[in-house]
Amino acid sequence: VRFLAGAVKRQGMNMLDAPLSILGAWGTRYEKILKKRSIRNVRDLLLYFPYRIDDFSAIVPIADVRPGMRMTVSGTIQLIANRRSPRTRKIITEALVADDTGSMSVLWFNQPFLTKNLKMGDRVNLAGKASDQFLDMQLVSPAYEKIGSVRESVHTGRCVPVYSLPDSVSQKIFRTLMMHALERSMSTLREWIPAPILKSEHLMGIHDAMRAIHFPDTLLAWEQARDRFKFDELLFLQLAQARLRKDLALVPAQPITINAQLYDSFVRTLPFILTRSQQKAIQEIMHDLQKGSPMNRLLEGDVGCGKTVVVACAMLQVIASGMQAAYMAPTEILARQHFHTLCDLYKNHALSIALVTSSSYMTWSQELGIRNHESRKEKQTLIRSIAEGIVDVIIGTHALLQETIVFKNLGLVIIDEQHRFGVRQRKILREKNTSSCTPHLLSMTATPIPRSLALTLYGDLELSIIDEMPLGRKKIITKIVPARYREWTYGFVKKLIAKGRQALIICPLIDESDALGVRSVHQEYERLKESVFSEISIGMMHGKMKSFDKEAAMRDFAANATSILVATSVIEVGIDVPNATIMMIEGAERFGLAQLHQFRGRIGRSHHQSYCFLLPSTENQGEKTRLKAVVSSTNGFELAEKDLELRGSGEVFGTRQSGLPDLKLASLTDHTLIQTTRKYANEIIQVLETYPNIVDRLDEYQKGELRD
Ligand code: ADP
Ligand code: MG
Repeated sequence: VRFLAGAVKRQGMNMLDAPLSILGAWGTRYEKILKKRSIRNVRDLLLYFPYRIDDFSAIVPIADVRPGMRMTVSGTIQLIANRRSPRTRKIITEALVADDTGSMSVLWFNQPFLTKNLKMGDRVNLAGKASDQFLDMQLVSPAYEKIGSVRESVHTGRCVPVYSLPDSVSQKIFRTLMMHALERSMSTLREWIPAPILKSEHLMGIHDAMRAIHFPDTLLAWEQARDRFKFDELLFLQLAQARLRKDLALVPAQPITINAQLYDSFVRTLPFILTRSQQKAIQEIMHDLQKGSPMNRLLEGDVGCGKTVVVACAMLQVIASGMQAAYMAPTEILARQHFHTLCDLYKNHALSIALVTSSSYMTWSQELGIRNHESRKEKQTLIRSIAEGIVDVIIGTHALLQETIVFKNLGLVIIDEQHRFGVRQRKILREKNTSSCTPHLLSMTATPIPRSLALTLYGDLELSIIDEMPLGRKKIITKIVPARYREWTYGFVKKLIAKGRQALIICPLIDESDALGVRSVHQEYERLKESVFSEISIGMMHGKMKSFDKEAAMRDFAANATSILVATSVIEVGIDVPNATIMMIEGAERFGLAQLHQFRGRIGRSHHQSYCFLLPSTENQGEKTRLKAVVSSTNGFELAEKDLELRGSGEVFGTRQSGLPDLKLASLTDHTLIQTTRKYANEIIQVLETYPNIVDRLDEYQKGELRD
């Protein structure tokens, strides 16, 4: 540690960048575990905020302690001893603590070493929640601190932070680490928000805020610190966005000449007429493609609204200009589906398409049709022809990111379900060009991010929304099914399957869990196969299956070899089987409204009537009210907005992979703060160089984005 501290000093290394080991033995010991929580250095530690503050600042005379009180008592240890619980065999440490007004008993569990730290006669502060035990006041597992040490108190007699931590790290150790970190790094922490903004927005300065977010003097001070960091969060989110935009405007891209005739003839061969929003999106994209700076556009639209054909139009123009297009999808299933869809859409065009995934390499061209490349040599040949620019469209999964794949002249990169890929992965794909130009980028998402939010996240010029469905779709009938109608529903499903239709059954979990009443894929699959649908062929699909098996399950279902597919939410992005007209969603209340809507988008793709049954696992009325929104609305944007109101952004689209930024404090529904910070971000970005501290902080922020 001393060695490291020396190094920090000698190299002028910022204390904030130092590893946790600089904080002493505990820092060293917990370094690895905390890395898993993305705490890599002192800065990360400081920015790891508590989710709660326990106010133990009141020091209460023992005689005045009442049950339920959260407080600190300050007294002397009269007795302390370990014993073994006769029932659980666990060690219990019992103590008696007294002050001038009385005495009370204290219990700790499983901490036998306590009797080494605390001895009779020691003066201590104990902080916790009082309970009564046969009329006697008792403290169970309080935090303790000896009085009279020189350090300021960390755990008692004050507002105390509570963090979300792995089991192996105690609050006490983490708090102590935090206190060390604060003491040692304050002098290197520089304010990044310009003084006039702090003043006009009444924001706490960084030093006060950093202290108060962890160790506030009052709960009010904690709130003020949180306000300051909420401001930071939304400001930097938007600064990063603005900077990206500004940087992209400076790099060259190959302008694409739009061939109107080609567009017309392509559209004429489609078996349907483009909707007005599809046409508008295509116009917006083509407009961008003609520019000499790279497009950075997000195409947003509900599942089934027809984004693929929009992309196909754009790619065709790029190819006609002699360049390549790459199309990255999050799953093998999707990549294959796109491959086949595009082979079909381009059947009248003399171009070539490749599919590159971890398990298969395929190509298509008008003359040769679809070909599989299985041997190592064939694969290498394909990779070479991609590098030589012979293949026009390259569709793939993450496999496209592998080093061996390079493009001769990449004009357009398309990322499907963009939130499944990190910033870093998008960057890698974009930089795989051997030509000196940056390719245009089109990202797509079916996540119905409300417009207000999308504007914050993606900016106004770069968003295309498809907000109407192709004509001729039958409205899906959606019903909430109470437990007593479950059997009836199974009967209904059987009838439709007898008529040749297929059903998707979605479960919230893969395996059985402790969560009572929540159905898992395995369990349901077995149960349905054995009893309910014993006459019907059933398949199963979930995220933990090998991609080969998933593929097979998918193929069987698509070919109607299985009539029912029991699946987890992997289905969300994975499937296009028009004959599937029935969906049952188990544990429906466990999903976000927008997510339910996305599941539902997997059906309703045929001229047959489709049905979506929501089967909640609780009879909770509040949940039922929430689910009713999915019954009455078929608008994903509306549902997302509603969920955002009811549950907050983290919950809207499922916990992970929402595509929305992971904000610690701020809320994406705080329109006022978003607007305020947006205004400042736009002002600051014009003269970014005049704010070196903002530049530093922004660099840090963007480094973090690139890491995942
Ligand atoms: P998504 O936006 O979910 O990617 P797709 O592009 O897969 O949607 O389109 C869903 C289905 O709708 C496809 O079978 C496609 O051929 C069809 N489709 C697309 N546009 C139209 C349209 N304008 N009219 C009728 N059907 C359409
Ligand atoms: Mg799609």
